[in-house]
Amino acid sequence: MMNGQAGVLDQRTLVLNRSWVAISTTTVRHAMTMLYANVARVICPQTYQAHDFESWVNASASRDEPCIRTVALRLRIPEIITLAVYDGFPNRGVAFSRRNLYRRDKHMCQYCGIRPGTEELTIDHVVPRSRGGRTNWTNCVLACVECNKRKSSRTLSEAGMRLLKHPRAPRWSSDTALLLGHRRASWDSFISDRYWNVELKD
Ligand SMILES: [Zn+2]
Repeated sequence: MMNGQAGVLDQRTLVLNRSWVAISTTTVRHAMTMLYANVARVICPQTYQAHDFESWVNASASRDEPCIRTVALRLRIPEIITLAVYDGFPNRGVAFSRRNLYRRDKHMCQYCGIRPGTEELTIDHVVPRSRGGRTNWTNCVLACVECNKRKSSRTLSEAGMRLLKHPRAPRWSSDTALLLGHRRASWDSFISDRYWNVELKD
């Protein structure tokens, strides 16, 4: 029913889980299918109201923006959808990368809590590599040069040092997947670091 709309249908739609956490992107075409099958709802970028297919059809009438045209319908492009049932996170884990480790530890030394700047931080193996410690989420933390020197290649108890918190794999979805390709302005409130990391004040 949507001949001649390939360009529009191949654009991306942001997919949120049921709790409105961004988990992936999909094509507008697939988003439409999910909407029509009633397994997803569209989030209106202006009102944040969730619409099912029928109410999206009604909300689409007479808007002056790119849309999907059929003989009978003029439909707004679903820029954001939320899944009706899925409340988990995608199975792919967050890549263990330098960038993601810095993000998880918030650029903070996990021993003394200072934020000396990226240049002054090192990646410390909690259980030293010489003792069989692995390079992964649960055994690597950021440490300032000072703490890293102090701990050296000793265990926590040998060095008499403590971690501020137990290191684990982060649960956030991999932004790299979300940020590939064109990113719509309407996605910002769901994926922008700037938006979510701003410290809230009275
Ligand atoms: Zn430190």
